Amino acid sequence: MGRIMIVDDDEEHILVPLTRQLGRVFGDENVNGVTSVAEALQYAEREAVAVVVTDIMMPGMDGFEFCRQFRANPLNLGYIIILSGRDGGIAEGLRAGADVYFRKPYDIEDLVAQIEKGVDVARNRLFSLQDPLTGLYLRRIFDAVFNLESAKLSRVPSPLSVIMFDIDHFKQVNDTFGHHTGDLVLKDAAELLKKHSRKSDLFVRYGGEEFLLLLPGALESKAMEVAHRLHDAMGAHLFPDAGRVTASFGVATTHRQPASLVARADRALYAAKEAGRNQVMLASAEDAAP
Ligand code: GH3
Ligand code: MG
Ligand code: MG
Repeated sequence: MGRIMIVDDDEEHILVPLTRQLGRVFGDENVNGVTSVAEALQYAEREAVAVVVTDIMMPGMDGFEFCRQFRANPLNLGYIIILSGRDGGIAEGLRAGADVYFRKPYDIEDLVAQIEKGVDVARNRLFSLQDPLTGLYLRRIFDAVFNLESAKLSRVPSPLSVIMFDIDHFKQVNDTFGHHTGDLVLKDAAELLKKHSRKSDLFVRYGGEEFLLLLPGALESKAMEVAHRLHDAMGAHLFPDAGRVTASFGVATTHRQPASLVARADRALYAAKEAGRNQVMLASAEDAAP
């Protein structure tokens, strides 16, 4: 389960008592209280948030703005409960991305039941974005996140890297050990390689036995380091039933032309296959022209 986050500037009357009450129900380690929207957005970048309980009127950014900014990231799947003593604002809150509106003073039992519902909804949202076999994100989520990162890059110059990789001779794995063992290799490989990626990197099952890791902010040297780490992890792993299975990797970084990034990584991957598989290949530099 992800975290429950409470966002309220009123520490004395709401934040502290509510954090304590919800901590007793859901476990203290699962409940986090913050006093501002900026802090809440930062927290959501670091941790998976299943449910947000947010105030509306807060200094700086208000609860509506929180909803809009939180929802702008397709990976923020958290269920948003607005908890406000303010009259009106329901329509604006729902349109800003909130899921439900609760009025202060709140009844703790009602709120707990609503949070339990929210945890279920968030879990289902996550399932709808994940490949059922490996638990990795689906390609369509990659497209949404990639567009967001590309747009960021045009505002704030920053590198963006991808590592594309594909299991070598996977058809032979299926043919030799059967499709079920093939499935287990995919699942196992995804689990193994996931351990070597950070939460801020997006790990995607791009096709059948083809995967992609998106690394926002990573320079070419960093992406190459990660790709070698993944390659080494595959090389060192003994898959139950199938034994050694290798993969080939293509790495590309962009500073200004995200549109061709995936194609460059794909070409590097193809070059790694052509050169004999089981290796990491770096894409040629992006065009000098802006
Ligand atoms: P290469 O080294 O050139 O990548 O060769 P390959 O055999 O890995 O590649 P090819 O594209 O010829 O075959 C990929 C195989 O992966 C064919 C397909 O049936 C299998 N595959 C794709 N998705 C799944 C899956 O979910 N489960 C299993 N078991 N096999 C899958
Ligand atoms: Mg307030
Ligand atoms: Mg393959």
